[in-house]
Amino acid sequence: MKRDYYEILSVERTATHEEIKKAYRKLALKYHPDRNPGDKEAEEKFKEAAEAYEVLSDTEKRRLYDMHGHAGLEGAGFQGFRGADDIFSSFSDLFEDFFGFSTGHRARRGGPEPGSDLRYDMTISFEEAVLGAEKEIELVRLETCEPCNGTGGAEGSQPIVCPTCNGAGQVIRTEGFFRVSSVCPRCSGEGQTFTEQCRKCGGQGRVQQRKRVRVHIPAGVDTGSRLRLRDEGEAGRRGGPRGDLYIVVHVEPHEFFQRRGNNIISSETISMTEAALGCTIKVPGIPDEHEIEIKPGTQNGDAITIQGAGCPDLRSGRSGDQVIFINVRIPSGLTDRQKELLREFEEIEKEKKEGGFFKKLFKKATGHSSEHAGHEAS
Ligand SMILES: [Zn+2]
Ligand SMILES: [Zn+2]
Repeated sequence: MKRDYYEILSVERTATHEEIKKAYRKLALKYHPDRNPGDKEAEEKFKEAAEAYEVLSDTEKRRLYDMHGHAGLEGAGFQGFRGADDIFSSFSDLFEDFFGFSTGHRARRGGPEPGSDLRYDMTISFEEAVLGAEKEIELVRLETCEPCNGTGGAEGSQPIVCPTCNGAGQVIRTEGFFRVSSVCPRCSGEGQTFTEQCRKCGGQGRVQQRKRVRVHIPAGVDTGSRLRLRDEGEAGRRGGPRGDLYIVVHVEPHEFFQRRGNNIISSETISMTEAALGCTIKVPGIPDEHEIEIKPGTQNGDAITIQGAGCPDLRSGRSGDQVIFINVRIPSGLTDRQKELLREFEEIEKEKKEGGFFKKLFKKATGHSSEHAGHEAS
């Protein structure tokens, strides 16, 4: 059974348009979804009042209703509102009139105000970035006030419509030609306050608290990586959802290693003879050292790649490589004997080169080669 529209708005059947509007304003403020998040009964009352206002504020609809009641309107094809959104879009001008702004109710519709996101800058070592780490951080953030359970009201106090903003949650002031609305300082936009405010939080419903948070650093982060910890930001107002915590990573430079994307870069110095003859050396890696083979004839600046020994990719988990650049040390401070040996070495190199040169000439002249031409000619 549908209730009588005059009864819903608590007005006489002879009420003027102004009286009807005033009555509706009162109910719209009281049952506004922003002020009654998740309250189904308030939502129904809000819809009911809007429907009553829609009919009684329209001369033709009101006449039909006066003569034939709800049946008269149904016969004319009148339907109520589907929901709060429907009401806001139909009455946007009216709500602007009521609240002094048209968009405020939209911006915050859909529940209480969520808590703020927080940012925390964390410096980690090069190894921690490559291998991942478990960290614990300490931060100060707004938490739900315990004595008042986030309501902001002292024990035993009664909720009242905020006297500063008359329940609108916004205060309007005039600056020249403009009307500027801002969040009400007394109720912080809730439109509601208490006869006595909670002493611990001063009516804010939240208090600053020092908290320890465990942070999992995934392997593969780099300087500038942002890690999002859901619901580790500040507590929301009046049971609103918590904000998130963003950890912004900074990686300390390393003594031996550098990062290039997911590759780890290092360098090793070997002796001239090691480079010429080849050898096996141990190089540092993360976490363990590697044994690598230096091929005979390795040149200064050559790179040796160890596949999969780099840093894992944050998304795919596939590891990059470790790339080792080889520096060849030219010996200095030679003894006479070493000089003698090197001169002898140089003589042989010359002979090899000349020999190779004549063999090449011979090969070109005859068009074939009966003997192996040697390394230099091939
Ligand atoms: Zn409190
Ligand atoms: Zn207020």
